Amino acid sequence: MAGVLIAMKPGATAAQVEAVAARLRQAGARAELIEAEPTVVLGNGGDRIAIDEVPWEAMPGVERAVPLSRSSRSVITSPVEVVEVAGVAVGGGHGVVIAGPCAVESREQLTAAAQAVRAAGAHLLRGDAFKPRTSPYAFQGLGEKALELLAEVRELTGLPFVAEVLDPRDVELVSSYADCIRVGTRNMSNYPLLTELGRQPKPVLLKRGMQASIEEWLGAAEYVSNAGNRNIILCERGIRTFETTTRNTLDLSAVAVIKATTRLPVIVDPSHATGRRSLVAPLARAALAAGADGVMVDVHPSPQTAKVDGAQALDPEEFSSLMAELHRIAVAVDLALGAPFRK
Ligand code: PEP
Ligand code: MN
Repeated sequence: MAGVLIAMKPGATAAQVEAVAARLRQAGARAELIEAEPTVVLGNGGDRIAIDEVPWEAMPGVERAVPLSRSSRSVITSPVEVVEVAGVAVGGGHGVVIAGPCAVESREQLTAAAQAVRAAGAHLLRGDAFKPRTSPYAFQGLGEKALELLAEVRELTGLPFVAEVLDPRDVELVSSYADCIRVGTRNMSNYPLLTELGRQPKPVLLKRGMQASIEEWLGAAEYVSNAGNRNIILCERGIRTFETTTRNTLDLSAVAVIKATTRLPVIVDPSHATGRRSLVAPLARAALAAGADGVMVDVHPSPQTAKVDGAQALDPEEFSSLMAELHRIAVAVDLALGAPFRK
């Protein structure tokens, strides 16, 4: 079935909306208004070729036209623009910096990391209890003990935290501790996990699968949304390409595409995208310049001793200079970093 979403500009007139609806009907589609201001006209059904032939974005009052695939309909039409993570606003002009170690290793390591990123001005802490390692012999994370440490360090520093969940059976556990739950690249298409996350109340940070198209990624978000949770933040973290100098290839065009097709917030993880600390700052800057609503960066108090991903972790000093650069970019793109969430 064909479909198209037409977002009108704020202040579009009733006559402009009616002209769009009339063109949709001419193309055999049903026209449905799904919001009052700014108006969105949904065209359902009709003939794909006839719909695609209309230069929608040239019509007066139209801001953007997005072809609708059934698999991501509810995230594309979702009115949620700003997601709240424990009082911090993400999206809709509000940017966030999430920073911390890849994995929680010990109380000392986590406390040092959290104090350093807080002092540098990060808004949320990252740190994982469960790690999806390529080798089953590698450090797998401290499990619930790490969640306890994260909660303890949240008390100490006031930083809410984001942590990954790997297994649908752990969703309730992670949800009971974390302020935001992350789905990693390897689990983006774990549909039972996504459904479980849709049934719990914490916001979900959904990373792009390393082999997933943008459409598949939005389809994954649709699982979370359909199960009842619309508080979804997308995270571009690089995709697999023929290039081997970086761990993955950061696809910044995905940020622009997400911004053009949905209202969902999207952030970028330059650490897992590149795997190299020297590339983290330039790509974090580029992410904000491209319109991302924030970045998530690996920071370790002593990267050379990290149990996981030391090569891509910034030390506290490097992170602090990055924060200063990000503040400058944010001003240039009119992004308010670390704004409190307001209803
Ligand atoms: C992470 O953020 O720690 C992580 C495992 O990232 P990804 O799922 O993107 O590889
Ligand atoms: Mn990692």
